[in-house]
Amino acid sequence: MAKFYQMSREQRLQELQKAGYLNERGRAFLENNQPIPNEVADGMIENQIGQFTLPMGVAQHFVVNGTKYWVPMVTEEPSVIAAAGNGARMAFMNGGIKADAQWPRAMIGEIVWENVPDVTGAAERLKQHAADIKAIADAAHPSIVKRGGGLRSQEVVIVDGRYLKLQLAIDTQEAMGANMVDTICEAVAKAVQPWVNGELLFAVLSNDADQALVTATMSLDPMTIATKQMDGTTIAEKIVSITAFAEQDVYRAATHNKGIMNGVDAVVLAMGNDWRAIEAGAHSYASRDGHYRPLSNWQMQDGKLVGTLTMPMPIGSVGGATHLLPVVRINRKIVKINSAKVLAELIAGVGLAQNLAALRALVSSGIQAGHMALQATSLAITAGAKGDDIPKVAAKLQQVGRMDLATAKHILKHLR
Ligand code: NDP
Repeated sequence: MAKFYQMSREQRLQELQKAGYLNERGRAFLENNQPIPNEVADGMIENQIGQFTLPMGVAQHFVVNGTKYWVPMVTEEPSVIAAAGNGARMAFMNGGIKADAQWPRAMIGEIVWENVPDVTGAAERLKQHAADIKAIADAAHPSIVKRGGGLRSQEVVIVDGRYLKLQLAIDTQEAMGANMVDTICEAVAKAVQPWVNGELLFAVLSNDADQALVTATMSLDPMTIATKQMDGTTIAEKIVSITAFAEQDVYRAATHNKGIMNGVDAVVLAMGNDWRAIEAGAHSYASRDGHYRPLSNWQMQDGKLVGTLTMPMPIGSVGGATHLLPVVRINRKIVKINSAKVLAELIAGVGLAQNLAALRALVSSGIQAGHMALQATSLAITAGAKGDDIPKVAAKLQQVGRMDLATAKHILKHLR
């Protein structure tokens, strides 16, 4: 009998149903909801039984480096897209967002040995063979060299007196580059083994992408960020202050950065990229000096509120799932970007706009006020409301001011 991973999707669904994990309705739902062609989905992951969908929207008002964008975003969190558009609108009133991605960029690969009998001698030999290592790396992935990329620099480091590390910086051009870096690292590891004479521990990409940085900035007249209840200068000063607090307080810094990643991840996902890689890079960069810090910085400069976000953005315009998923092909047309550099700049701009919207809400009316309407709708649906009942339950929830499921269920019961 075929093993689960060897079965067709239909057989896997049958197995799950036979074992009591799926009923007829669940199985029919999984069978019928298939925006990705089955052979593509089956080729992408193991044990594929269906497809998981999330809402996708477009954020408006983005102008980055003078170009206007409609930005596809995929998220399950209410308010993310509205907040991104709101932040972008405020930036737009001030001339838009400026962004600059490091280019050419490089991804880091690590090759590490342990139990090296003469670790200093081995380190010296690796340094002496730098030209040979370059030739080995180029031969391992000639197509990236033809495209203008490949191995850029090498570093040999002894870690903790007992590990020998050969660190490679590789220009992966338009790709995020995980697979090509891994291929090159493994080929180099094998070829240099006689010069090291130790035990290879691993050879793989590092997700600490500190040679693929992007910076987005905006400069805002405080008047343009005023709310009905609070003047713009007070809000601007409080945004500066809450960011300074986040520099000191890790609890706040984590939430500050999560707000940025709300926007970043939503675009990364919509563009078919590896959002875990972007997350890992963001958080390792946030703690680069040994203390976890906010990724963005807000300061008053000549009467303006100036926001800056710098973070790694190892995004790909090719490779991975970018050309496999039909919806990503559509999103590429919506956003009209075919360059990893320009995409990185847009994504950083979205992160900064998202950050502005969250901080502005937080220091003025509080975060819940803005979340209320969408949160109420989500609660109404979770409570079981359908059709016309959804807005009725949502409105009543906002009226009573208690955003919880028990209240939503109570309201729905009385409505019926
Ligand atoms: P791919 O393995 O898909 O490689 C990129 C592809 O794009 C290559 O086939 C390359 O062609 C092609 N390509 C076309 N035009 C260009 C161009 N201008 N510049 C560069 N490449 C071009 O993807 P990556 O190497 O980017 O790897 C990303 C994938 O790896 C993601 O799916 C990620 O999830 C996964 N991954 C991530 C890891 C991590 O983050 N730690 C670990 C392992 C995998 P050619 O071959 O002709 O050069």
